[in-house]
Amino acid sequence: MKRISLFIILIIAFSLVAQETNGETIPGERGFPLKPILDLDGDMHSPSNGFRGANWRGKDINDLDSQTRPGLFDNPIGLLDNNCNGIFGWPSHGNENYEDLLCKNSDARGVVAFGDSATAAFSIPVEWLQKVGLSEKYGDFFDVLRHEFDWPHKSWSTGFADEVQGESIYMRLRQRNLCNHRDYQNLGVNGNRARHFVDQVDVMARAPQDKPVLGFVAYIGNDICKKSLEKMTSEEEYRNQILAGLEALDKKLPAGSKVLCVGLVDGRILWNTLNDRQHPLGIKYSELYQFLTDLDKNPCGTWLNKDESIRDQASAHAAKLSGILKNIVETRKYQNFDLAYMDFPIDKILEEWVAAGKDPADLIEPVDGFHPSIQAHRLQSEYTWNYLLENHPDFLGPVNPRNNEIQALFGNQRGH
Ligand code: CA
Ligand code: CA
Repeated sequence: MKRISLFIILIIAFSLVAQETNGETIPGERGFPLKPILDLDGDMHSPSNGFRGANWRGKDINDLDSQTRPGLFDNPIGLLDNNCNGIFGWPSHGNENYEDLLCKNSDARGVVAFGDSATAAFSIPVEWLQKVGLSEKYGDFFDVLRHEFDWPHKSWSTGFADEVQGESIYMRLRQRNLCNHRDYQNLGVNGNRARHFVDQVDVMARAPQDKPVLGFVAYIGNDICKKSLEKMTSEEEYRNQILAGLEALDKKLPAGSKVLCVGLVDGRILWNTLNDRQHPLGIKYSELYQFLTDLDKNPCGTWLNKDESIRDQASAHAAKLSGILKNIVETRKYQNFDLAYMDFPIDKILEEWVAAGKDPADLIEPVDGFHPSIQAHRLQSEYTWNYLLENHPDFLGPVNPRNNEIQALFGNQRGH
């Protein structure tokens, strides 16, 4: 019973990932919205966590006022916390409110992540393996469906959950400048690839007059993950789709924003690490991948494939697309943001992990055998942060010298 239940869950979960990677469905046609469902004022931020709400985008403290949402500058004459960062009001003397006093010149910014299921931290809860059937656990199941099997609040880019232990890019940026509190948006969608970049820019809650952003463009594999090599995104298509997304971004982003483009993953790590290992269901991962292929639910027929030459050709094409992305970054200039490129760091992360005597399988989600684990998310965040600190410190902005005052006055700034 347990085994059958888990097979069903796997099939449902991979339907969400594989539908778009293999087919031609576009966002919004899958039944899942790209914007929060509970959003009365239509500002694309929600007071509730699920359904693309505050686990994806910073919580809205007033859902009846579209001029109250993360990322804004507070109204200079008002008493209210328009940007939801928990800093508001006036000191007993002086002619500046707290937001101006503590944040106005702090070069504050928000994190925005564009990408796929890896961006949104797709995961099937491993705890389900210990459960006998799902009959009394439908509550859990619907909660996970409500989140599209995604856990953006635990992701490398915008995570803030306890498990992240303050190590996401957002949490590090927040620690650097507490004015950045709640200013995050994770726009990752299962199955999305370069051609969905424009759609994700469209649902970003940001206007040119808002605080600048530190953006991440990380479509790391779905342009390669197809049923067959012929269906992979061509070099020309990929180039045009990335350029279209960046042009759309330039129209919407506040001046002074920064954007890091992340190259594609070399997905051979999945087969090489897991194929011979035993899946928690008691079969080998290679058998699981074949089982999913037989059901037309393999999320990545080009990399989760027993044919080594197909896996190699998939990786060669991924490297070409990464080269195109790097070339765009090196040759294009945009009015409102600076661009940088970084290879997807899985090889570096893996090298260090193995050198420390650890098991590479810990970096991959055990149930699906495909997505990065929460551990991998934390390491990716650490690597990316250090990369920016070393190569592009201006992307991170300065440390706010008034952080201690903010903490003393506003505590946890209303949490998340
Ligand atoms: Ca709202
Ligand atoms: Ca504020």
